[in-house]
Amino acid sequence: MRLAVDPRDGAVKLTLPRRAALGAALKWAESQRAWVEQALAKLPVAEAIAPGCEIPFEGASLRVDWQPGGSRRVRRDGDRLVVGGPEEMVGPRVLRWLRAEAARMLDAETRAVAARAGVTIGRVRVGDPRTRWGSCSASGDVAYSWRLILMPPAVREATVVHEVAHRLHMHHGPEFHAEVERLLGRAPRAERAWLKAHGASVQRLGR
Ligand SMILES: [Zn+2]
Repeated sequence: MRLAVDPRDGAVKLTLPRRAALGAALKWAESQRAWVEQALAKLPVAEAIAPGCEIPFEGASLRVDWQPGGSRRVRRDGDRLVVGGPEEMVGPRVLRWLRAEAARMLDAETRAVAARAGVTIGRVRVGDPRTRWGSCSASGDVAYSWRLILMPPAVREATVVHEVAHRLHMHHGPEFHAEVERLLGRAPRAERAWLKAHGASVQRLGR
C-alpha cells in the first residue's frame, strides 16, 4: 500500500494491491494521519491575485496596478497590468485577461507550428487542468492550460510542438520524439526540467 499527496492540489491518494481489503487499508491510511498532515503542511499555498502582486508572465513578470477610479478593463502597460473597479474584482479580471492572452497566443503558435509540420489542427482552446499542460485529440482539437503563459516562452513552445507532433504520432514512441526534435530544433530537455521544478508553483496562482 502507498499513500501520496498530490503537490498540485493536496489530494491524498491511497494505492492498494488489487485484492487488498478496503477496510484494513483505510484503517492503515488513517494511522498515517500525522504523515499526511506533515506532507500537506509542506505544500505551497495558493497565491491570490491582488493589487501590487507580481505575476510571472512569459519568463518575466507583470505587476498588478490597481487604480480604483480607472477603467475596469485590464490593460497592459509595459511591465504593469492596470485594472480599475472594485478591489474584489481585480483577481477575476486579471485571471480573465491572462486566459484570453494565453488563448490568443497558443492559437497562433499552434497553427504556425502545424503549418510547418504539414498537419491540420481543429479547435484550439485553453482550460485550467491541474495535471496536464496540453492534450491533442484524434480529430485534431488541441487543449492547453492557460498557465503556459506564466512560463518562459521556450517551455510554451515545447508544449505546442509536443501537441502538434501528436498529429503525426498519437503515442510517445521514438518516431514521436524524433518529430518533436525536428520541429523544435532541439530535444526539450531544459523545458522538461523547468516543468518538473516549477510546474507546481505555476498551478498555485489564483486558485
Ligand atoms: Zn503527449
